[in-house]
Amino acid sequence: MKIAFIGLGNMGGGMAANLVKAGHAVRAFDLSEEALTAAAEHGCEPFTDAAEACAGVDAVVTMLPNGRIVKSVYEASVFGHAPNGAVLLDCSTIDVATAREVIKRSIDTGYDMVDAPVSGGIAAANSGTLTFMVGGTAKAFTRAEPVLQAMGKAVIHAGDAGNGQAAKICNNMLLGIHMIGTAEAFTMAQKLGLDPQTFYDISSVSSGQNWSMTSYCPVPGVGPQTPADNDYQGGFATALMLKDLKLAMEAAESTDASTPLGRHAKELYERFAEEHGGLDFSAIIRSL
Ligand code: NAD
Repeated sequence: MKIAFIGLGNMGGGMAANLVKAGHAVRAFDLSEEALTAAAEHGCEPFTDAAEACAGVDAVVTMLPNGRIVKSVYEASVFGHAPNGAVLLDCSTIDVATAREVIKRSIDTGYDMVDAPVSGGIAAANSGTLTFMVGGTAKAFTRAEPVLQAMGKAVIHAGDAGNGQAAKICNNMLLGIHMIGTAEAFTMAQKLGLDPQTFYDISSVSSGQNWSMTSYCPVPGVGPQTPADNDYQGGFATALMLKDLKLAMEAAESTDASTPLGRHAKELYERFAEEHGGLDFSAIIRSL
């Protein structure tokens, strides 16, 4: 397929490279010259204009920072520039309302479109092992699936437009909450005189077991290799966790959902991000 890829940053760069590896012709655009040069080194064809990159393609993939930018890129450079038969895939993490609005506009202008945010960070983007949560019609999903398969290990249809974003922010709200809970438990265990490894050995096979403990332990030297073992460098930045918690709280407000723990997690990450936004989100244990 001929695919336009807009937004070749930390995530998009690796994703576009995997589309090339899968045999697709990728027409790349980014505002950053550096990102564009790196994409060209991975076999993408660089363009200095997003609308031009969309000409004659079968699919458009976007991986952009936020909903405002996604909306403006689709309005200015995709709608009316990509051929009508093209399928559109927005893989950015954005608010549910904007995702639904942009997909409605795409349908009104004659396109099939999905929101397809990802779980998995830069390493998963590079290795093609992302999980995609996809919102859109069954037809749009069927058309988008082969493109997403080339960049991920799991592609799941979450329902109608915006449901991919809904799944993403609910998942990440839960992640933020159980990371803080796990960090609290390890900190208190230690204050009570328990060795962290001993607490891990017990809790990881007891009812407190959870992903933040057994796959992403915030305590250095305990459990599998994690960012905690690398001074909280790499991994999933605190600033990005905060972004997702803010999106979750916006969604909670707009739907009148009661999320007291989600709100508290957002506040704790907000405080922690003031000085440590670049550290992995498990570093929140340092604030306890
Ligand atoms: P990034 O800042 O590294 O990349 C974004 C890219 O978009 C940049 O290269 C920037 O130049 C480009 N861009 C901005 N405005 C543009 C425009 N108008 N036209 C073309 N290009 C434009 O961010 P990232 O880490 O790659 O994240 C991208 C998306 O993926 C975000 O929505 C983020 O929340 C989501 N995400 C990130 C991670 C992660 O671990 N980094 C994990 C899951 C989801």
